[in-house]
Amino acid sequence: MEVIHSIADLRSRIKDYRRKNDQSVGFVPTMGYLHEGHASLLRKARAQSGLVVLSIFVNPLQFGPGEDFERYPRNTERDLQLAEAAGVDLVFMPSVSEMYPSPTRTTVSVTGLTSRLCGASRPGHFDGVATVVSKLFHIVQPDQAFFGLKDAQQVAVIEQMVQDLNLGIEIVPCPILREADGLAMSSRNVYLSEEERKEALVLSQSLQKAKAFVESHTAFTPQELESLVSQHIATSSLAIIDYVEVLAYPTLEPFKNSHHTHSIIIALAVKFGKTRLIDNLILQVGK
Ligand code: AMP
Repeated sequence: MEVIHSIADLRSRIKDYRRKNDQSVGFVPTMGYLHEGHASLLRKARAQSGLVVLSIFVNPLQFGPGEDFERYPRNTERDLQLAEAAGVDLVFMPSVSEMYPSPTRTTVSVTGLTSRLCGASRPGHFDGVATVVSKLFHIVQPDQAFFGLKDAQQVAVIEQMVQDLNLGIEIVPCPILREADGLAMSSRNVYLSEEERKEALVLSQSLQKAKAFVESHTAFTPQELESLVSQHIATSSLAIIDYVEVLAYPTLEPFKNSHHTHSIIIALAVKFGKTRLIDNLILQVGK
């Protein structure tokens, strides 16, 4: 495994690989502080691609004022160990000035899909995501890129961007990895106090309740599911709901009742103290 900091070095290393091999290049973009969720993406890339490229870059563009950019957890040594064990070939770890030499005047903005959920509560977030991911795609030029459904709105945004800009990259969505008790794995879980960590279980529990409800009802409205989920989350005195929304997926459009769509997402963002957690469940609904 090789660790690379400059764009020019990464480009020439990948060009060299392409010259000597006809296998595909797989790419997993991350912000580091890697956990088993990231490892599952890397293992999938290892199984499907000839060359596995991991990027670790805490992207300032996708953090709003007052968010956790400065205190975002970092542990390079541990990240490199996990990457090596998952079979990564190249780790790209650029500095902020390498990615954004000033002045930078181009933003990639995906409209529509970004107006709800995290797009509504974190203005500018998805412009930051689309801009950095398109820059990384241009640098790496992968055949496949692997993204976790933990960030299901992000997957929808990136798929749309790839289609709109004819990037010709296969986006591979990967399932959410959870702790044994159900909490979705996240680099931000480390912020939680012991009590908050316990109470955060209401999130995955509420999604399981919603799943049971969907499975036992032939028809339902999004509002019914939203209130069931919100009520369960409200049983935790520490939880402050940012949003609980049920939409069609991947269009992220509202729908009237379950007869009007095939695939739905139950998406939530909830704060425990200063820590904002997201989780979701995507379900197929029968006619
Ligand atoms: P991040 O480092 O948080 O930007 O995440 C990098 C990639 O890992 C994104 O595609 C995430 O969706 C994915 N990811 C993060 N947490 C999980 C998880 N618990 N299960 C699966 N994928 C995840």
